Amino acid sequence: MPKVHFLDVTNRDGVQTARTGLSKFGKTMVNFYLAKLGVAQSEIGFPFLFHEVPYIRAQTALAEAGAFGELRLSGWCRGVPQDVEQAAPLGLKHYNLSISTSDYMIQNKFRGRLDRDAIIREMTAAVRAAKSAGALTVGVNAEDGSRTDDGFLLEFALAAKEAGADRVRYCDTIGGDTPDRIRERFAKLASAVGMPVETHCHNDLGLAVANSISGALGDLEAGQDAWINTCVNGIGERSGNADLLSTILAFEHGFGLEAEIGDAIDLSWARRFGLWASYAFGQALPYNQVGVGRNAFAHESGIHADGALKDHGNYELYDEATLGPFPEDWHARSGRVVLTGEYGGKAGFRHVMDGLGVEVREEDLAFRLVQLCNAMTGRPLTDDELRLIAAYPRELSLLFPGQG
Ligand SMILES: [Zn+2]
Repeated sequence: MPKVHFLDVTNRDGVQTARTGLSKFGKTMVNFYLAKLGVAQSEIGFPFLFHEVPYIRAQTALAEAGAFGELRLSGWCRGVPQDVEQAAPLGLKHYNLSISTSDYMIQNKFRGRLDRDAIIREMTAAVRAAKSAGALTVGVNAEDGSRTDDGFLLEFALAAKEAGADRVRYCDTIGGDTPDRIRERFAKLASAVGMPVETHCHNDLGLAVANSISGALGDLEAGQDAWINTCVNGIGERSGNADLLSTILAFEHGFGLEAEIGDAIDLSWARRFGLWASYAFGQALPYNQVGVGRNAFAHESGIHADGALKDHGNYELYDEATLGPFPEDWHARSGRVVLTGEYGGKAGFRHVMDGLGVEVREEDLAFRLVQLCNAMTGRPLTDDELRLIAAYPRELSLLFPGQG
């Protein structure tokens, strides 16, 4: 039976967003949390970009050392062979290759440089390049897919499949799709092409989660697996992408949704991830953020408070304990506290690691990495960050060529 899978794009769409930044160590932590949450795949970044190279080497090494469980690491490239050829030496096993498909973008973005035939020619050449470089899965992204007509979308998807692609990503790039429309289009396309169509929904109308679920149902209706693109806390270009936690919760608790999740999801990391991301991105969570906002389980008004006190199920959809604990980081303690960081010494380092109960095997390397990672993030390191450093100092040192 076809199932639902999650492909998180925080480390690509999320970090490329205006006024949003994350260090390479922060991006590493995103992959760590995605693995803990049990999502299938992380689009880790741009493997053709020079400043991503040490980071991508570190992620591959961390995955080989077991730091990321079953998480698949994939790279995003433009759907042209040059990007893929540049990325190939890094040896990533999964790719998404993106090119615009709508007439609007052909006319107003490419402006005569590429027409439909050229788009298919470039995209298929890119797919073949990825496959011959050893890629296990390749998705092709129809950028502005929601404004692309059915006929060309099908032609594009069939050509991709013929070239060896495993999935096609239908991008609602400008966020104008609506639930009924996207479900119908997904069902039609997935059944005509005979492979999964990935959702990539933007939130310009506040419909990203609803559209992602509807699109996924279209896949399932066509007998194909569904792959849903998400971002932590719903970040992403402009008004964001589909929020990871909301989308998972909808499949777990949405009324009348019968779809089965195919990933080993563990929501007991949801609060640690959501709160860490808010801290690392420097973007406060709205009080009403789904699941992780301050008010997600708070009751004050008379009738609600009375009902919740009698039985929280009167006013809550699910048990908050399923979202796991809130982070209680060492660095956030009030009163007297000794921290470790960029300018710290061994005494403080040992004090914090001992206090956290963390066993440090390669002390000199781990100590230097605390300094380097803190210099990179510019914020006090969290407990999960310190634990990852203590567990995988060799692999993380690849983030700092010549310095680790
Ligand atoms: Zn996007």
